[in-house]
Amino acid sequence: QPIIYWFRQDLRLHDNPGLRAAVKTGHPILAVYVLDDETPGQWCHGGAARWWLHHSLAALQQTLKDRGGRLILRRGAAQAELLRLVDEVDACGVYFSRQYEPFAAQVEQGLHAELSARGIEVKRFGGYLLFEPEQLRTQAGEPFKVFTPYWKACLQQPAPGPARQVPRHIEFCRRRLSAGRLRDWDLLPTAPDWAGGLRESWTPGEAGAQQRLRDFLHEGLIGYKVGRDQPARASTSRLSPHLHFGEISARQIWHTLQREAVTTPGAQDDAGHFLREMGWREFSYHLLHHWPSLPSQPFRRQFDAFPWRSDRPALAAWQRGKTGYPLVDAGMRELWHTGWMHNRVRMIVASLLVKNMLVPWQEGEAWFWDTLVDADLANNAASWQWVAGSGADAAPYFRIFNPVTQSQKFDAEGQYIRRWVPELVQLPDKYIHAPWEAPAEVLAAAGVNLGGNYPAPVLDLKATRQQALDAYAAIRSQ
Ligand code: FAD
Repeated sequence: QPIIYWFRQDLRLHDNPGLRAAVKTGHPILAVYVLDDETPGQWCHGGAARWWLHHSLAALQQTLKDRGGRLILRRGAAQAELLRLVDEVDACGVYFSRQYEPFAAQVEQGLHAELSARGIEVKRFGGYLLFEPEQLRTQAGEPFKVFTPYWKACLQQPAPGPARQVPRHIEFCRRRLSAGRLRDWDLLPTAPDWAGGLRESWTPGEAGAQQRLRDFLHEGLIGYKVGRDQPARASTSRLSPHLHFGEISARQIWHTLQREAVTTPGAQDDAGHFLREMGWREFSYHLLHHWPSLPSQPFRRQFDAFPWRSDRPALAAWQRGKTGYPLVDAGMRELWHTGWMHNRVRMIVASLLVKNMLVPWQEGEAWFWDTLVDADLANNAASWQWVAGSGADAAPYFRIFNPVTQSQKFDAEGQYIRRWVPELVQLPDKYIHAPWEAPAEVLAAAGVNLGGNYPAPVLDLKATRQQALDAYAAIRSQ
């Protein structure tokens, strides 16, 4: 009798605890992936993530084929599809890796209830995170709401177990079964094909993830602590989409970085800082697990009464990278072109949307969900709420990023802006952060026509900052 190994956000063979355990039972393995656009509701994969998923599944199919197996593709509500498959092959067990999205956890419970009642083994494994959300409690026995003590508590836990190989030989189930074809799932864009920039930027799949980690160790790690704030530098790892789809395990990264900290002179501080950033991913999942409404409702309920605005033109200018604020526009265009945006710039563009434009953070969250290749329910929701000031351990509301001073500080020579906003390439460094301050002859010499080939700022930073502070004061006094 076969065991079904249900691949989810763990599209890898290396250090996959559930797959390893399934193989070690000695039962033949039936590897399956279910494309479920029903159960997640509004949170089914966005456009950029679908592009990624297609290529990641193609890579996994190839890896399994090289090992003499095959990936069965099914489409529909995951629970119903898996139950059907159990009957079709008379499986004796279903093994999978745990997910933390509220809808995903519900499927796990449903499967468990249905199958264990029939004497079929259902086994769930960790491996997505370094620390399970239930593992960590404050001294009062509550979930954490503040990052620093949370991360301190994580570091006092036993270290995550070592990364482990799946046995070289996998006995696959040879039953003939109907299965979908990846190309029929229409995960890739057709007309227009907006994925050119994604293809240039990424190699989805396990091999691509391992390569990213190696590149980061060679090129990014030393100097990460400072470099991670400079969007023009390739200092960060860009592992986020690989981590999201589970093409590499968090604990492999953890142990690799711990080793680097000891063996590479000068790397200790940078490695510690990098692991702390990984800690924010852990913290986001901790929050999502304990507060499943995080993606849709403010964590601090006083924000229910916040006077958000529906400002369609402002939202559209933001989405298209046409706000007239060069660093913001550069970020939004990087996102559209590559499906990714640098973290510092994510914070700045998000602040402009929710604080200066007073557009609800859920609108920004939804746009990111559709356009990011690393769109991740926990990280996206926690980060948007962090910027909005409504989250757990959020940035204080009065911290309103100024996109001009941020630009002068973190992209002083305008390299990042020039890369993504070609209209401004010729503008001298002095004016690249705030083109409206340039004298007319400088603009003319640089070929910049404000309100023509590049927008004039869509809002006044000082006035909108005051409006935001007033709006906040109103809910605070309630
Ligand atoms: P690195 O600096 O190399 O960090 C390594 C890993 O640590 C990342 O891959 C990521 O898994 C994790 N990490 C780093 N910073 C954060 C953070 N602030 N919060 C949570 N995890 C972090 N990240 C996502 O993975 N998916 C999202 O949908 C997402 N949406 C965001 C929305 C907003 C408004 C903001 C401000 C941030 C968002 N982030 C999101 C967090 C962060 O911007 C990205 O994880 C990071 O830019 C990924 O780049 P990297 O892999 O090069 O990061």
